[in-house]
Formats: sequence, structure tokens, C-alpha cells
Amino acid sequence: MSQINLEITVHSCAGGQCKQKPDENNLGFGQYFTDHMFTMRWNKDKGWYDPRIEPYGPFSLTPATLVFHYGQAIFEGMKAYRGADDKIYFFRPKNNFARMSRSAERICMPLLAEDLALQGLKSLVSLDQEWVPRAEGATLYIRPVMIAVEPNVGLRAALDYLFFIIACPVGAYYPEGFKPTKIYVEDKYVRAVPGGVGEAKTAANYAASVLAQKEAKDKGFSEVLWLDGVERRFIEEVGTSNIFFVLDGELITPPLQGSILPGITRDSVLQLARSWGGKVSERAVSIDEVMVAAADGRLQESFGTGTAAVISPIGELTYQGRTVQINKGEAGPMSRRLYDELQAIQFGRQPDPFGWRVTI
Ligand SMILES: *Cc1c(COP(=O)(O)O)cnc(C)c1O
Repeated sequence: MSQINLEITVHSCAGGQCKQKPDENNLGFGQYFTDHMFTMRWNKDKGWYDPRIEPYGPFSLTPATLVFHYGQAIFEGMKAYRGADDKIYFFRPKNNFARMSRSAERICMPLLAEDLALQGLKSLVSLDQEWVPRAEGATLYIRPVMIAVEPNVGLRAALDYLFFIIACPVGAYYPEGFKPTKIYVEDKYVRAVPGGVGEAKTAANYAASVLAQKEAKDKGFSEVLWLDGVERRFIEEVGTSNIFFVLDGELITPPLQGSILPGITRDSVLQLARSWGGKVSERAVSIDEVMVAAADGRLQESFGTGTAAVISPIGELTYQGRTVQINKGEAGPMSRRLYDELQAIQFGRQPDPFGWRVTI
């Protein structure tokens, strides 16, 4: 996409609309929002226009706005980390905006002006830098979103869009230590099918997954493991994370073939593990292979990967009434090493051999 040069207009809250900051040791997830937000708009004739930073606050949209009816909405999830040197780091933010453009294409939205979005992100976090927590393990979670805002109830691609970025300080994901989860292998509902929208970070995927997640939670599980939508045999993802296995010493994750979300953490784990020299494969894994390997003691570890938790070790899998434990329900050495190494890079405690960090 061609370079777009637009000045970002800034209206700061300094005049008196600034908020009281929450207690950094009690942040939870997604409850508090910073003082400002970044917005920009797109119109079929004008392209991207009006990039601005304003005090965080409500939008005014008419009931006919397209996104309310047909769900033309995509989002991203990323973080800003405060280093021990007090600098603020982003982790591979260009990958998030590139992925957002790919999500946009899939649901007929305009490609994101990626450079302008990155500039908006940096300006926003710079203005709200006091909101990037200093408490151990806490981060600033960042949510870029694009929605169709044309008022029209006919089903077609909208002619007007709104892009915005909001940010919220969030607590450490593992306040009580690196705790493995109990996972329900879902064989009734599916998340995505080939040819569908599973590889796009589009709101519809998440609306469609809440029922399975709720039923699993009601049965005492943390998350569901999603099987492929055709045969319900091959493993795809876990909750809203990508999934990995350590099987006979080999690190394995399912390949990206259209129904799996291409996680940036997934890609980082693959690059990191390959740099360590072990055996790493992207290949199809069936639930039968996993259950047999677990019963034979050959399944050494399993974990989910995503921006929120980084690495989320899996301690137990339940499939069709049978439960297997993984590594006696404890986090394994590969999960721990990946978690420590990724966090060290993200928080700037360690050199960045892959060039993943971006400072403001
Ligand atoms: C966002 C997401 C992931 C993880 O992606 P990251 O870029 O690693 O945060 C994995 N699966 C699904 C379904 C997701 O929505």
C-alpha cells in the first residue's frame, strides 16, 4: 500500500479529563483504560483520513451502522512492556498490523495504513506512558480494532470504516506461578473450516466460540481444544491460542492451512526453538496420536501460545470421557524455557537477536 503522510491531531486530556490510575497490583485483565485513544477513518473516495488522538470516550453510531448487523469487525492484540531500564518496548508490532491487513482483506475491508497505525500506536503509548505498569509481570495490553461504520442495512462491504486503538494496563498472567490448565477436547462444536474465516482475527470467530468455552468452563475446564471442522480429528488450536506438543523430543505444532490463526507468539516460538537446534515440525497431529502418545508416556509437554499468556502449559486433556495427564500435570522444561526466554526479550532483559523489539 502506498505511503500515507498525514499529521496526527492530538487532543490531550491535560485540561482536566485525565483519570485516576488504578492500583498496579490489582489490575486484572481488561478493566481499566488509559486516558487516550487513537482513531482514524476510511472512506471509499478519500481513503484513510483524520488520524487523531483524543481522550478515551464513547463513539456515537446510529442503530443502522453496518457492524451492528453483519459483524464486519476485526481486531488485534498486542502489548507494551516496561523494561528495567524504564524504556517501553513493543513486541513485533508491524506483524500485528500486517496481520490486520490480511484479516481486513478476508472480510472486504480496506487494507490498513500500516505505517500510520504504527505511528498512532507509538504516539498513543508515548502520551499515556505513565499507564505502562512497573509492577512485576504487568503490561499495557493494546487493542487495535477496525469496524464498518456506514449506516446501511443492506448486506455488502461498507463504504466507511473506523480504526481505533485503545489500551489497558493488565496484571501478570500468572500471579500464582506458571500453572498448567485442564483442557476439554471439543468434539461437538467447531471453530473454523477450510475456506472460512478461521485465519482472520475477526469478531465473528469469537462470538461463535463462546458457547463451547462456557460449556467447558461449567464442566470445570479452563479452555477447549479445537479439532478440525471437517473430520473432528486433527488438532487446530486451544481456546484463543495456538497449540504445541513435545512428542518423543520433537516440538510440533499444526501447520497453517487456512483455519488456524497465524499467531505471532507461535511464529516466535518456532524461530526460537529452531535457533536452539532441536527437532521442530509444523505437521498435522490427530487427537488419537496425542491420546496414544500420552498413554504410552511419549507426550512430554503441551502448551498454548498467545500474546496474553505467552506460554500456557497444558496439564490435562479430556477427550470423549478419557483424561490423560501431561508431565504429571506440571509445566515442562520446554514450556518454561520458552516462557522465560520470550519474556526476557519482551521486557528488554536480554539481547534481541531476532530484531523483535521496537521502542517508542
Ligand atoms: C490472537 C489469537 C492467537 C494468538 O496470536 P498471537 O499473535 O500469538 O497473540 C491464536 N489463536 C487465535 C484464535 C487468536 O485469536
